[in-house]
Amino acid sequence: MKRQFRLSFNKDKCKGCELCISFCPKKILALDETVNAKGYRPAGIVNPEECIGCQSCAMMCPDLCITIYQLEEGDIA
Ligand code: SF4
Ligand code: SF4
Repeated sequence: MKRQFRLSFNKDKCKGCELCISFCPKKILALDETVNAKGYRPAGIVNPEECIGCQSCAMMCPDLCITIYQLEEGDIA
């Protein structure tokens, strides 16, 4: 069974630098249309089903805004 991952972003810490977006090999991250408390458009995931859990985004984020979870079988609806 294909492993599935989900990302959690600390949107209020994000400064919209786009490093995570640049380094994602699947190109599934993008800036939100909304603005956070600091006045930046924070990053988010567009297509979580495509995530391969490589952690490149989390490692590149200078502000440690991204946490990656692997879903257990029972988590998938
Ligand atoms: S874990 Fe890898 S594939 Fe998933 S969003 Fe981050 S960089 Fe992209
Ligand atoms: S690398 Fe971190 S601070 Fe930069 S856009 Fe991505 S989540 Fe936000």
